[in-house]
Amino acid sequence: MSSVSIHNKDSAFTNFENLLEIHNLKTYYPVKGGFFKRTIGNVKAVDNITFEIKKGETLGLVGESGCGKSTAGRTILRLLKPTEGSILFDGKDITRIHGKHLREIRKDMQMVFQDPYASLNPMQMVGDIIAEPIYNFTKKSKTELKKEVMDLLDKVGLPPDAYYKYAHEFSGGQRQRIGIARSLALRPKLIIADEPVSALDVSVQSQVLNLLKDLQEEFDLTFLFIAHDLSVVKHMSDRIGVMYLGNMVEIADKGLLYAEPLHPYTQALISAIPSPDPRIKKERIILRGDVPSPINPPSGCPFHPRCPMAMEECSKLKPVLKEVKPSHRVACHLYS
Ligand code: SF4
Repeated sequence: MSSVSIHNKDSAFTNFENLLEIHNLKTYYPVKGGFFKRTIGNVKAVDNITFEIKKGETLGLVGESGCGKSTAGRTILRLLKPTEGSILFDGKDITRIHGKHLREIRKDMQMVFQDPYASLNPMQMVGDIIAEPIYNFTKKSKTELKKEVMDLLDKVGLPPDAYYKYAHEFSGGQRQRIGIARSLALRPKLIIADEPVSALDVSVQSQVLNLLKDLQEEFDLTFLFIAHDLSVVKHMSDRIGVMYLGNMVEIADKGLLYAEPLHPYTQALISAIPSPDPRIKKERIILRGDVPSPINPPSGCPFHPRCPMAMEECSKLKPVLKEVKPSHRVACHLYS
């Protein structure tokens, strides 16, 4: 158990079953301009999201590229500075912790990256890559370290001689297994997997996804699973959150979201999933236009310029995410 005990009196866990709670989180990047390079605007990459993840569950986060899901993941890990809102993790408010407090908490939250090759040091032996976090955070002897790394290699399905090799000697799927072994080295509670299979061949994607599921069971892990592919997210998640232009527009149990999507954007995303049975014809909802710029998002509902159901109020008033059915929250005036 981490020794960090920083609390913000304004932030409190709403449910002790939750490992993570995100309240009204915003992450803005300043846009500089002019001769003096002053801030002239903001890229509103994450623009007010609220959700929670229960201990042991997988929350999938979906949305088109640039919708803010990766920025949200990195902000939760505190790799990016939150602009507003709060991040509560394992009973603590970690929104503004620094130094040794942040270092402590990082043991419990790890990331699996999209591109396993870019995240692995090509100059280090795989054994050293996996051992590094253990070495940095614990005082284990060389023998203990090696035994632990060998054990992790076995858990992720790599042979013992992988210890002495370099990342470039492995295939994409094997490199992702190395990245996963490294992320598990400190026995974290939460893993944020950011598009962990989208750079892999389709033939190995399901192997890596099944490995993550097995490891979740064995290591008692909680996952935030970020992906743009709805079939992948469906396979992995217990609940799913849909993001559009930095906003959470719908969040529900997986079965509810796929069976009865409420938000017009989610309906369009789901209509684009090919049917497994070619005899069943699905009507695909084609959205007009492109995703607007997060520097100057539309007024009111961020989806209104593309929404087939838009009403007059949609361009004036931003809808709030609220529960419209048990375990089903949506941000849309159709359900006000
Ligand atoms: Fe469409 Fe209006 Fe709902 Fe936004 S609030 S999704 S524009 S109907």
